[in-house]
Amino acid sequence: MRGWLVAVLDLVFPALCPACGAALGAGRRDPLCGGCWAGIVRIAPPCCGLCGLPLGDVAPATSGAAGVEPAPGVMAGRPRAAEPPTAAPRRGGEDAGAPRCGPCAASPPPYDYGRAAGVYTGPLREALHAFKFRGRRALAGPLAALAAEQCGARLPGDVEALVPVPLAPARERERGYNQAALLAARLGRALGLPVEPRWLARVRPTQAQSELPAAARRDNVRNAFHAAPAVAGRHVVLVDDILTTGATAAACADALRAAGARRIGVLAVARALGVAL
Ligand SMILES: [Zn+2]
Ligand SMILES: [Zn+2]
Repeated sequence: MRGWLVAVLDLVFPALCPACGAALGAGRRDPLCGGCWAGIVRIAPPCCGLCGLPLGDVAPATSGAAGVEPAPGVMAGRPRAAEPPTAAPRRGGEDAGAPRCGPCAASPPPYDYGRAAGVYTGPLREALHAFKFRGRRALAGPLAALAAEQCGARLPGDVEALVPVPLAPARERERGYNQAALLAARLGRALGLPVEPRWLARVRPTQAQSELPAAARRDNVRNAFHAAPAVAGRHVVLVDDILTTGATAAACADALRAAGARRIGVLAVARALGVAL
């Protein structure tokens, strides 16, 4: 009945993909079309255990990966078979002694491990823009599913809570939602983990990181966050949409550590490449 209704609604009001504008078609992950879902450049091991950077050669940053042979560590256009949404992926597959990329080996980030689901390029980049800046909050569904499918099984088994990266209150009012909180809520359901948005707050306004050169980002967010005493002794995973320079995640991790968090992971939907952390 519901499928029939969706089919009729699609005929009357064709649903268009917010990333590319095409009709959704076969293989769709509403509201993403089948082509965009399949075209996301997924990150799979081997990747840096600290920042999620795929190790080895990386596929060129182009959309439409058709005909491009995926590099090791990157799977393009081969989404894993959909799992029932109620089935929490088995966790505990943490790779002890995980490899590290050069920059992380030289200067490890203040969090204990980082995972990212896909490369910030092509359809994933378009989808994240629509999700973040064009009010397309329904994209939380496929974006969180992507993160759960690619990273859920690679999270340690003793994670106690997901904590979304907070937005400044003024920015959240303006946007109407915090994209990281929407992702964390969906991820929490998919992975069977509690979500604790109140465990981390922004205590001073910052400039949008995207407006700043990489070198200025760390200063921009330094001491911008405060963690609740409840994180003391806990193993928490920060959730964010995009890991670019890692400056925001690092500032959040500093605040969580200062409040006594025992272990801190970072889980992002997308990882930008070619940016030194
Ligand atoms: Zn599309
Ligand atoms: Zn790294």
